[in-house]
Amino acid sequence: MLEKSEHHPEISLQDLEKQLHDNPLNIQDIDNLKKLTGDNVIEKVSGDLIEHITNEEEYLLTLGRKPGAYFRDIIFALIQIRLPEDEAKRDWRAILKHKYAISEALNRNVGIHVATLDYYTNIKKRMTHPKIIDANEYADTASRALTDNLTKAYNREFFENELKRLFVSGRTDHLAFGLIMLDLDHFKMYNDMNGHIKGDIALIQIVRILHAVCAPEDTVARYGGEEFAILLPHQRLNHALQTAENIRSAVYDYRFVNEQCLPGHRLSVSLGVTAYRHDIKSPSEMVEEADVALYRAKNSGRNTIKAFFKETGS
Ligand code: GH3
Ligand code: MG
Ligand code: MG
Repeated sequence: MLEKSEHHPEISLQDLEKQLHDNPLNIQDIDNLKKLTGDNVIEKVSGDLIEHITNEEEYLLTLGRKPGAYFRDIIFALIQIRLPEDEAKRDWRAILKHKYAISEALNRNVGIHVATLDYYTNIKKRMTHPKIIDANEYADTASRALTDNLTKAYNREFFENELKRLFVSGRTDHLAFGLIMLDLDHFKMYNDMNGHIKGDIALIQIVRILHAVCAPEDTVARYGGEEFAILLPHQRLNHALQTAENIRSAVYDYRFVNEQCLPGHRLSVSLGVTAYRHDIKSPSEMVEEADVALYRAKNSGRNTIKAFFKETGS
């Protein structure tokens, strides 16, 4: 027991919060940005492309935007700052006014992007070192920074940050969440028999299965090699175990190329599961718990799920 607590010193909330990145983008943010850019939504609503819209909210609804997040999404797409919807709406109106004023002075339409830049740097003074980059290029760079190249799952860095965020919300708001560590069974043999390329394809397929089974709010991440970590917001241990079982059976039921060469004639996965408790001292202790459970799943024959149960020391 003592050894264990030395290994995992209690981490203070302040320390954890300091370690969190300010504004972690996620895949949904990037998809949203791509959609707003691809459909020229901002240029349309601002009047750059068509006559100025009198009721923006109605118009944004017709473009399939989410009520309650219209202006927040637009401001975020324009300058990557997160504002509450009402402040975003006020800023949007102020930017439009500013756009008309400078357009009038220059006697030509200056466009929404230039007006936004001038507004946030010279009027609201919210930015001091803006950098101009094409939105598509930005979205590509941002998604590369978050994801694993091969499988397009989130990368380990994103996972670690998300785990810290959930851990903080577990401590402060008592929000439950589950964690699964998953490792492919006999994958070295699969590679040896079928070659690295087929192995890579199997990894890509595994991530597709994980995305199909998990909810959009879950974080599916490549932890390293053929090991994946999955964060399950709002899931207590029993719920997380059910998700793990759904994953195990979905992988087992999928037909991978030439899997007959493996000991069980199927490519399978082993999973270790744990869930947030107040006595867990740090995010890394939680990963270790899931790892201990994964180790037990491997030892009990693979193609298995195991939960971490804390020894009571009786
Ligand atoms: P176990 O059931 O105990 O997990 O056995 P295992 O063979 O899966 O475990 P081991 O750790 O011995 O081997 C992991 C293998 O995963 C070895 C490595 O070649 C393979 N691997 C790791 N990353 C990649 C990758 O990006 N692509 C491919 N094709 N293989 C990978
Ligand atoms: Mg492994
Ligand atoms: Mg393995």
